[in-house]
Amino acid sequence: MTLLNVEDLKVTYATDDETVHAVNDVSFSIDEGVNYGLAGESGSGKSTVAEALLGLLPGNGTVEHGTIEFNGTDLTSLSAAERRDVLWEDIAYIPQSAMDSLDPVMSTGDQIAQAIHTHRNVTDAKARDRVRELFEIVGLDPDRIDDYPHEFSGGMRQRVTIAMALALEPDLIIADEPTTGLDVIVQDKIIDKILEIQERMDSSLLLITHEIGVIAETCDELSILYGGTVMEQGSVDNVLVNPTNPYTMGLKNSFPEIDEEDEDPVAIPGSPPNLNGEPTSCVFRDRCPFATDECATSHPDPVALPNRNHRSACHRVKEAAQMRQAADDPET
Ligand code: ATP
Ligand code: MG
Repeated sequence: MTLLNVEDLKVTYATDDETVHAVNDVSFSIDEGVNYGLAGESGSGKSTVAEALLGLLPGNGTVEHGTIEFNGTDLTSLSAAERRDVLWEDIAYIPQSAMDSLDPVMSTGDQIAQAIHTHRNVTDAKARDRVRELFEIVGLDPDRIDDYPHEFSGGMRQRVTIAMALALEPDLIIADEPTTGLDVIVQDKIIDKILEIQERMDSSLLLITHEIGVIAETCDELSILYGGTVMEQGSVDNVLVNPTNPYTMGLKNSFPEIDEEDEDPVAIPGSPPNLNGEPTSCVFRDRCPFATDECATSHPDPVALPNRNHRSACHRVKEAAQMRQAADDPET
């Protein structure tokens, strides 16, 4: 069963001097029980996708077109209040930098209790019991619910935000860069905890991160965004083990640990594209070693590849295997 279906989503931001085309015709869907990754470099549009589907875009952001169906309901047709109910009841959202945006002058337990009171008619004592239970679920000491954010480490504050998001047992957990800024050991613990909770609550997960290594470890399927467009998508096995898109190949070389290869990371040369116009060419062409004239004159849409659950947006997708081989092994 499809839980979330995003179709042809386009989002722009209006600024004083330009229109930023942040997300361009993005489509993907997440089935029940699936862990889905949204990957891409900084500025590729990951958070914008999440904010658009939750109705939380900043004031200068506009959904130009597209549908976002959750459990069969088009979220874009709901009023702000209706969407907020869906958000709290069914979708848990851990925003980027959530751990830094906890209220410094309210105890962590009160912040979570407040979220519960907004949506459930419960006594203070019941809400406190639930907060203690949530602390336990995320691996925090329930005797610390009266502590303030500054009394916790970064990893613990992130656990608090996870506890808050989980208060109402969601069908879908959306976590935006939940481990960024934490040290590697704490990162692993947080990811393990999210997975444990997701399994226990039988929820689906949308994990947003620039680290494809984290997605390789935790997700079943993913989409790779670049310049607000989907470059490649499908099962982790297809996309990350056998990428057909030069961008994915480059991204993989910057995270060699995915193949457990003992190689140094190689960053993709060049810088991300300018987003001040509708994409009329391949957005990656300036940095792509395989670009041809066609790549400069028409924008490739993601097309389905013969193996199941694999789509790639590249004019040269048919030659991808040879290109990959030649790039990996320049001697032959
Ligand atoms: P990061 O990995 O750094 O979090 P991201 O993939 O989440 O990046 P977004 O935050 O979605 O990227 O931003 C996509 C593009 O939209 C970027 O070019 C960004 O500068 C631009 N953008 C984001 N928010 C706004 C805004 N409020 N006004 C104008 N432009 C914006
Ligand atoms: Mg972001």
